[in-house]
Amino acid sequence: MSERTVPDLLTRPSAGRAASMPLMGREGEPTVFELSSPGRKAWSFRETGLPEWAPEDLVPAEHLAGAPPALPEMSERDLVAHMSRLSSRNYSVDHGAYPLGSCTMKYNPKLCDAVAAMPALAHCHPAQPDDQIQGWLALLADLERILCEVTGTAAATLQPAAGAQGELTGLLLMRAWHESRGRTPTKVLIPDSAHGTNPASAAMAGYEAVEVPSDGRGLVDLDALRRLVSDDVAGLMLTNPNTVGLFEVDIEPIAAALHAADGLLYYDGANLNAILGAVRPGDMGFDIVHLNLHKTFATPHGGGGPGAGPVAVSERLAPFLPGPLPRPVPGEEGRYRWEMPERSIGRIHGWHGNALVLARAYAYILFHGGEGLAEIARTAVLNARYLKERLRGTYDFPYDGPCMHEFVASSAGIKRKSGAKALDLAKRLIEEGFHPPTMYFPLIVDEALMVEPTETESPQTVEALAQALLAVAAEAEADGGAAARAAPRTTPVGRVDEAAAARQLRLTWSG
Ligand SMILES: *Cc1c(COP(=O)(O)O)cnc(C)c1O
Repeated sequence: MSERTVPDLLTRPSAGRAASMPLMGREGEPTVFELSSPGRKAWSFRETGLPEWAPEDLVPAEHLAGAPPALPEMSERDLVAHMSRLSSRNYSVDHGAYPLGSCTMKYNPKLCDAVAAMPALAHCHPAQPDDQIQGWLALLADLERILCEVTGTAAATLQPAAGAQGELTGLLLMRAWHESRGRTPTKVLIPDSAHGTNPASAAMAGYEAVEVPSDGRGLVDLDALRRLVSDDVAGLMLTNPNTVGLFEVDIEPIAAALHAADGLLYYDGANLNAILGAVRPGDMGFDIVHLNLHKTFATPHGGGGPGAGPVAVSERLAPFLPGPLPRPVPGEEGRYRWEMPERSIGRIHGWHGNALVLARAYAYILFHGGEGLAEIARTAVLNARYLKERLRGTYDFPYDGPCMHEFVASSAGIKRKSGAKALDLAKRLIEEGFHPPTMYFPLIVDEALMVEPTETESPQTVEALAQALLAVAAEAEADGGAAARAAPRTTPVGRVDEAAAARQLRLTWSG
């Protein structure tokens, strides 16, 4: 961390360098501090001769700062040009394909944005009395109902703000259920291919995370699982299709093994797009399901924006859900009120979660309908299988079962022949106009490239992506990886020191 703080930075005499800085160029976009010029303003109003308000007239003197903050001083024109240039430097889902496996970034319909921006939804305050926001309550209650239908469960909470928070909620529900039966098991089983949030959430909920090995197929090793199941196991967290993109075909014996020991099954449904309308976690024997609306239902994941990780549960866990929940008022058709479930674990988020993300998901589901959702799953799987087959022979597939919405390729063979690592190929792909796939995850695959084309790309785009991935591999073999190691050469910034960026985080500009 830099020792300089924000106030420190703001009072720093930063002006004066602007004149010597280039205004554009690949490396050269100056910061607002460097563009600052003392006394320059973004606006100027004519003198009116009217009396001015003194700050003390508005805010009691004891609450006023001694001096105004030393903010950058710029003209409106320079500021708008600076921000516009910055805005075009990043690659986003709106620019093109973004095949980032697991952490899906896909195009999301602008219609959902329009719905979330409707003043009738966006301008409500969550503290408004129930009778003023009946529409919102009906929307949330209906979304809960639909998510239960999609997942084969009985009740849901929409409060959690992210997948990881949904996981924590689900594990606290697991704990509450066991405690209600006088049991305090201490372990949660988690496959070695699982998303990193799973063991982290288990630890946060006070459980010991016990790793379940994968077998040669890339699926849960059933014998190893059976050996690990005991009275001290609260449950199993499973992602299905799992993180290497394969469907856990042994889900029935897996569920039976857990249920025989009074354990619960937790479904990590962050990427439900693979199975929508085809198979339901509840029918596979899961009691708890979390969904990432910001992956599957019309909000892009990543970038730090708001998300929603609803948790849906079977009948026996419903009394423990976080609340309050929107419930129909008995005897008053179409009216709702907030109610706390009987044995609720309490709140997990302020108010009702990220409500406008919920509104986008609701719009997305309604305009697709049941058949549309099933079509999403079919297209997601078809796109992934097409791309995987196009790469066969050039990339390796350590776990070669039929993939679902994503697959994990290994570029270890290309590295042996050319020296180019998965990282180099990924950087080279940027020059071809594509966002790289997820790299080096899951950890059980050497030189892993985890690819999810998503359901939103056309066949032409998926084919272009295939050709780019094949071309960067062929080029590496021809030039010993030289071009890949030099990439990216077409972006404002080339290779950055990623380890230093992660370990010595500097969030302030210090000249
Ligand atoms: C993205 C993801 C998560 C975590 O979701 P966040 O919203 O990022 O907390 C959990 N599990 C899987 C499989 C995921 O892909």
